[in-house]
Amino acid sequence: MKFLGHIFRIIIATAIIGTVLYHFNTQFQTAIDQKYEWLFPCKTPITYSLGTVDPKFGISKDDFLTAVKAGEKTWEDALNGKNLLEYIPENGKVTVNLIYDERQTATDKLKKLGYVINNDKAGFSDLKAKYDALSKTFNQTKAQIANDITDLKRDQAAYEKEVAHWNSLGGAPKDEFAKLQKEKNDLNSRADNINQRQNTLNQSVDTVNSLGTVLNEQIDTLNLDVQKYNNNQQTLGDEFDQGEYILDQSGRSINIYQYDNKAKLERVLAHELGHAIGLGHNDNPKSVMYKLDQGTTLTLSAEDIAALKAVCHTL
Ligand SMILES: [Zn+2]
Repeated sequence: MKFLGHIFRIIIATAIIGTVLYHFNTQFQTAIDQKYEWLFPCKTPITYSLGTVDPKFGISKDDFLTAVKAGEKTWEDALNGKNLLEYIPENGKVTVNLIYDERQTATDKLKKLGYVINNDKAGFSDLKAKYDALSKTFNQTKAQIANDITDLKRDQAAYEKEVAHWNSLGGAPKDEFAKLQKEKNDLNSRADNINQRQNTLNQSVDTVNSLGTVLNEQIDTLNLDVQKYNNNQQTLGDEFDQGEYILDQSGRSINIYQYDNKAKLERVLAHELGHAIGLGHNDNPKSVMYKLDQGTTLTLSAEDIAALKAVCHTL
């Protein structure tokens, strides 16, 4: 009995330790991976897998993977084809996600309306001017409609007062009656007109809001030079606001939220993969690792290459 009790205690203890290890395993593993990568940088490839690829982007998982691989190749080519990153179908150390959010919705809406969105300072000024013009028109129309509603209510009240007056006298004479009938039709068509204008206004508020969303994003992309921290997340790449590299207790991930075209997608992926390899930002505006996403190609700058060689100790 005493022996069985001992065995039982061991089983319970093992179960507890097992549970604890299971919970902290990912966290430990990430910490161990990082220590290893710090001690032996670029020695073994950092594996990655795909996570969420939201179908709303209209890009297949295969095509998304092709874009990630283009970003990967950029860095590997710089070190003569050294295997720095490697795709594995499951359980890669880094999970790469394509996540649909309101920024992409706003971009899509504007594109359908024929807006050209360029994520640079000139593009921002251009969009800002359109936003200002549109919101000015919007506010004028809104004020005009509000005035027209006030006038309509006043005239409707006057009409009803007149009808009540003639009713109290037992009915209006023929010409008065015709006049009142005309007034009623007139009031109805004014109400219809107001309704139509309000519908149009409701559609344009959607456009104004989409422009606001895209502009806010560009303000982040073009102006901010800060790292974002909160309780669970440490982000290294938030100025490249369409994407981010996240390192937290649940592991490592790259999230892409928005892109305008294939070239831009590959570039933001290359930037975030650069962070995954261990690169920070550098000061050349043409760099893939510049803090702002201003370029359109995957060509690395001399600064990008120097930083990569420094991280991989291959200077
Ligand atoms: Zn970054």
